[in-house]
Amino acid sequence: MTAFQGNLQPITLNASVQQALGKHMLTCYPHEACGVLLGAAAAGGMRIDRYLPMRNVAPDPLHAFVPDPQEWVAALYLKPAPVGIFHSHPHTAPWPSSADIRGLSSLGAEFQVYLIGSPGLSSSAPRLNGFLIGRQPDATGKPSCRLLHSALTLC
Ligand SMILES: [Zn+2]
Repeated sequence: MTAFQGNLQPITLNASVQQALGKHMLTCYPHEACGVLLGAAAAGGMRIDRYLPMRNVAPDPLHAFVPDPQEWVAALYLKPAPVGIFHSHPHTAPWPSSADIRGLSSLGAEFQVYLIGSPGLSSSAPRLNGFLIGRQPDATGKPSCRLLHSALTLC
């Protein structure tokens, strides 16, 4: 495919972030939960240290997420800026939807990590998938974004 292949860095979450994500997914259920991830590039990958939950103000929060604009703008001014975004799929597996893919281009280049969680309320256990946001020029030279499934490790 591309140069990104074979070059995928792991995403590391600390235990408190993992707990915060799980808690927020349950609090928001049956709506989608959303928020941003704070962290940094770490040796050989990305390290996520903190989760900042946000209100989901989507008109249809059962099937979509739109972070509260005020909380979103405030987060963008943090130093250092958020490195990732999280949302949940309350009813489906944590894989990117076509709407998720379309929304990638609106994220600034500082966003490198994309996490999707499923609370797993019915029969399955909670699940979390981690992706790196790949940006490459398309045939017309415009940046095109895609998600690269990455290894998620907990520490
Ligand atoms: Zn989604």
